[in-house]
Amino acid sequence: MSTAERLMRYCRFDTQSDPSSGTHPSSKKQFQLAELLVEELKELGLKDASVDENCYVYAHLESNLDKPCRTAGFIAHMDTAPDFNGSGVNPQIIENYDGTDIVHANGLITKVSDFPDLKRYAGKSLIVTDGTSLLGADDKAGIAAVMETLSYYRDHPEMKHGTIAVAFTPDEEIGEGAMFFDPARMKADFAFTVDGDRLDVYSDETFNGDAAHVEVTGVAVHPGSAKGKLVNAALVAAEFAGLLPDYLTPAHTEGREGFISLQKIQGEISQASLDYILRDHDISLLEKYHRIMEETAALLNGRYGEGTVKITFQETYRNMKEALKDHPEVSLLAEKALKAIGYEPMNVPIRGGTDGSHISFMGLPCPNIGNGGGNFHGPHEYCVIEELEDTSRLIRKIAELTAEEAE
Ligand SMILES: [Zn+2]
Repeated sequence: MSTAERLMRYCRFDTQSDPSSGTHPSSKKQFQLAELLVEELKELGLKDASVDENCYVYAHLESNLDKPCRTAGFIAHMDTAPDFNGSGVNPQIIENYDGTDIVHANGLITKVSDFPDLKRYAGKSLIVTDGTSLLGADDKAGIAAVMETLSYYRDHPEMKHGTIAVAFTPDEEIGEGAMFFDPARMKADFAFTVDGDRLDVYSDETFNGDAAHVEVTGVAVHPGSAKGKLVNAALVAAEFAGLLPDYLTPAHTEGREGFISLQKIQGEISQASLDYILRDHDISLLEKYHRIMEETAALLNGRYGEGTVKITFQETYRNMKEALKDHPEVSLLAEKALKAIGYEPMNVPIRGGTDGSHISFMGLPCPNIGNGGGNFHGPHEYCVIEELEDTSRLIRKIAELTAEEAE
């Protein structure tokens, strides 16, 4: 079976996670793919493959070296994003893509003018959707590449490698993929999430993320006799939002620039609230965003009375770089392996968090590598077959370089 065939088979499983269920896994249907993967892992000779009650799959391919070697881990997530239809996925192959707009089976058009990255893939083959669903290459491309690697090792017992640890996780798309991850079951010395897009990009840095809840308390008075007394909480909330700098909104930031993003606003005369997320790669800038919000609250409290606006901040996640700073060799390994398979590696900080950042803070260094997918979470999603195949080569190269260290 080719890597592309593997990917298409996994994509047909509906594994959409559900942010509202409150259960773990968030949707039971993720078990169907997990159970298939356990079966396949066992067929590939990973005898200890199993799925736990929270739908985490763990397995180990034993070392065939006669000396101790560090264990490399590879992690991919099984769920797909709740943002768009994830059922009835019907993957289509475009052989020798010509680099122009893609017309899907249902008439939807993926325009190169909207997604200029596609031009890079002229002459390659793509897996795309039929226009009615997402594809799920995020992150089943990661799973397919790991499985392909294991199948290669089964067919090539002469290839030397240390122990390879594998984990397939649920609920990444709703931010809970690391919640029940168990490093003690993974038993790896370092790991990679195989959950990026283009293969030449790897990442060992994420945002620092915080949440802010702003509570506004008004003074409700009959509008007919309100002069000088009424404080309309909804209006104060709108004023608060308006006072925050425009240049710090997500629509005005890119690259290494962080943001303060209003996620939700609700209110009436007596009470209103605003919910924000704050993000920056640099922790001192994140702290600055706290101060900007606090100063805005102080300004409004001066105007409308002490206690009108109150803010509470909560930490969401921290930049993986902090946890990786004592393990530079892990990123270096990704870089070396990419070069060895003919790619020019780029280290690009992620504008978000990853399961790998949580896992790195658990003590298992875990940067991210790509898998050849793109336009995730919607009907324009695609996967470049050549890069998908090279993802498996990249994993093998990482294993090979790790085995060489042991000599
Ligand atoms: Zn993903």
